[in-house]
Amino acid sequence: MAEFTLELNDDQKQVRDWLHGFAEDVIRPAAAEWDEREETPWPVIQEAAKVGIYSLDFYAQQFFDPTGLGIPMAMEELFWGDAGIALSIVGTGLAAVGVLANGTEEQIGTWIPQMYGDADDVKVAAFCSSEPDAGSDVASMRTRAVYDEAKDEWVLNGTKTWATNGGIANVHVVVAAVDAELGSKGHASFIVPPGTPGLSQGQKFKKHGIRASHTAEVVLEDVRVPGHCLLGGKEKLDERLARAREKAKAGGDRVKNAAMATFEASRPAVGAMAVGTARAAYEVALDYARTREQFGRPIIDNQGVAFQLADMRTQIDAARLLVWRASWMATTGKPFTSAEGSMSKLYASEVAKKVTAQAIQILGGNGYTREYPVERMHRDAAIYTIFEGTSEIQRLVIARTLSGLPIR
Ligand SMILES: Cc1cc2nc3c(=O)[nH]c(=O)nc-3n(C[C@H](O)[C@H](O)[C@H](O)COP(=O)(O)OP(=O)(O)OC[C@H]3O[C@@H](n4cnc5c(N)ncnc54)[C@H](O)[C@@H]3O)c2cc1C
Repeated sequence: MAEFTLELNDDQKQVRDWLHGFAEDVIRPAAAEWDEREETPWPVIQEAAKVGIYSLDFYAQQFFDPTGLGIPMAMEELFWGDAGIALSIVGTGLAAVGVLANGTEEQIGTWIPQMYGDADDVKVAAFCSSEPDAGSDVASMRTRAVYDEAKDEWVLNGTKTWATNGGIANVHVVVAAVDAELGSKGHASFIVPPGTPGLSQGQKFKKHGIRASHTAEVVLEDVRVPGHCLLGGKEKLDERLARAREKAKAGGDRVKNAAMATFEASRPAVGAMAVGTARAAYEVALDYARTREQFGRPIIDNQGVAFQLADMRTQIDAARLLVWRASWMATTGKPFTSAEGSMSKLYASEVAKKVTAQAIQILGGNGYTREYPVERMHRDAAIYTIFEGTSEIQRLVIARTLSGLPIR
């Protein structure tokens, strides 16, 4: 088991520098254009695929880094480049993690490569859990999966919303209720293979930030998928449902569900994305404060500005430490006895929102325009306190974990 260390090893430093180079040379220069276009930056994803950043191999390598720092380091660098484009590059990973967390080896081997495609023909994937009436309250999900035993097929019906890459994905991972009475414990995840009839894109959302990332509704009308598309397989599902029913009878509620397992695994990674955006804005603000002169001296000569920068940097470093701790704990199998994963996401996302707002203030009028990137970074940062569980939900998880009480 890897000891916790803040010292990156030579391999990690090499990967970090390589990613930083890609973020600086390819992502950052394209950021403003794709933000304005509000379209998936396919050429940039393709560039990432060509150099090996957009691939299962790359993420698997980072994911299985025994120190746990591979994923947060990668996320920080890519999102330092630009959050919208970076989410287009890593969004497929959320669906891939859903398969890794719940799928059999065969399912992992079959579907994950189809999620990425290859450098000549890149594909994306979508993880569809949220619904118009089931955001934070995942248990109230209305999408149903009914088993047609005669055909060994599952029939999916419902409407998903806010799905990153929804409708444009080659492979959709859809969470649906198999036994609605069990709430979130009655949910299961399904692969919807490319070209399956009945799945269509609903509304594509025009967003405040991360506009290069495609977000849309996904409508499921009598979508039939083969039995082998149930992640983890029927036997495992039946066992899990039987256990959940037993626990429900006995009044217990300790059975994990598929969607929650996915969210738990991805929370520190979202914290790392937030650290990347915060660091990017802080660096622009520091540079500006050193060079912008008012009253005959650089504005950083004023404590009012310098202290803001000192606080910004302190909070960014603190956020990174929480993220690294949680990622190390996840990789080394340490139990999250104080909800450290949620803590890292909560703190880093709030820091990103605050720091990017401070960066606008430090750049004054320029900060408020699209001539400088901090305006975009602030719009982008607002997503971190919302997706993968809002800040309020993170606090709820932390408070429940610490107190052992069902705090509402
Ligand atoms: C750009 C974007 C991309 C996304 N990508 C995906 C994706 O790929 N796949 C996917 O499945 N989902 C995705 N989501 C959905 C996202 O996870 C949800 O938006 C989020 O979980 C919040 O749900 P909601 O929007 O329905 O808000 P609601 O749950 O309606 O919450 C509204 C407000 O009420 C608060 N609130 C709710 N319940 C409580 C409570 N018990 N205590 C205190 N406060 C509470 C919330 O914190 C929030 O402030 C995405 C969302 C966005 C905006």
